[in-house]
Amino acid sequence: MIALDFSSGFALYIFVWFIILTFLWSRELWRDKIYDWALSEGHVCICDNCRFAFLIKPGESVARCSKCNEMCTIRKRY
Ligand SMILES: [Zn+2]
Repeated sequence: MIALDFSSGFALYIFVWFIILTFLWSRELWRDKIYDWALSEGHVCICDNCRFAFLIKPGESVARCSKCNEMCTIRKRY
């Protein structure tokens, strides 16, 4: 058995919590990057055929309308 006094045990306890919080924070940053959805007009595609508006992922240039299955080309607006 490892002999551990109170101050060493407390320091170990704080260190383990620090590692856990660092891991959770890194995971949250990673998830924010992966699931990056921002509601803005640049990410909304409006179908030319049925005028149905739907969201697209950032960086996509072609999408298929989920209502009428028409191909929609996304025009860049700057
Ligand atoms: Zn459509």
